[in-house]
This record gives sequence, structure tokens and C-alpha cells, in this order.
Amino acid sequence: MNKEIAGRLRAEYEYLWHDSMRELPDGWVEPLVVLLEKLYRLPTIGPVSFASPGLVTWVNLRVEVSSSSASAFAMPVMAPGKWTPTRALECVEALLEFHGSTQETCSICGSEGSLMMRILGSNTEGVYCDEHAPGGSDDA
Ligand SMILES: [Zn+2]
Repeated sequence: MNKEIAGRLRAEYEYLWHDSMRELPDGWVEPLVVLLEKLYRLPTIGPVSFASPGLVTWVNLRVEVSSSSASAFAMPVMAPGKWTPTRALECVEALLEFHGSTQETCSICGSEGSLMMRILGSNTEGVYCDEHAPGGSDDA
């Protein structure tokens, strides 16, 4: 990830940021921002006692990057009694959405992309749009 962008995200989402996010390719920054924003807003889901976004951190985040997708892992840091089903589900869905987005987003430019794998007849592995697919788009 571009260092300048990493610096900005780190400043904006201080407690949710983790250095593993630096490993994400530039094209997957947007899915990450969507994830960070959703988790940042977890305090506003459900009971209004924690109504300010970002005021309370509910999870610690890590990101694992592979050529074909990225996964986000969250460890709950808020006491069990504070969680509601709605809030927990929102968190789980945000994690799933991030993973799903990276599988459909060009890792270079962030446009709509598709997964290319050797077992599918491609000579490279990764998620690319038509323009950035190494060796041309031989996939249907
Ligand atoms: Zn692209």
C-alpha cells in the first residue's frame, strides 16, 4: 500500500489500524476503508449509549494478504456483555464483505476484477481487471 495512504488511514482509524494492512496492494485499499468505516461505526449500532463513532473500540484487527484474496481477522476487545446480536453480526458481515470484495477487485487499480488461477487456465494468480491481467485476458 502506498505509504501516504497508509499514514492517513493510520491517523484516521488509529485504534483499528494494524501494520499488517500495509501489505495490501493499492487496489484493495477501498475494501479496507469500507471495513474500517463499518467497524469504526460499530458503537452506533444498537443501544444508543455508545452513540459516537470511533469512541469505543470493539475489536482488534489484522489482515492477511494472499494473491487471490485478503482476509480480515477481528479479536473482540469489548467485554462480552456489551455485545448485542446486531452489533456482532454487523462485525462478522463486514469481515466477510471485505474478503468477498478483494476477490472481485483488481489488486492494482481497484476496478472490478476477476480471480485468475493456474487451475483455471491462467498463467498467473491474482485478481485483475482486463487491463491489468498479466499476459492478456484469456479467461472468459
Ligand atoms: Zn486494474
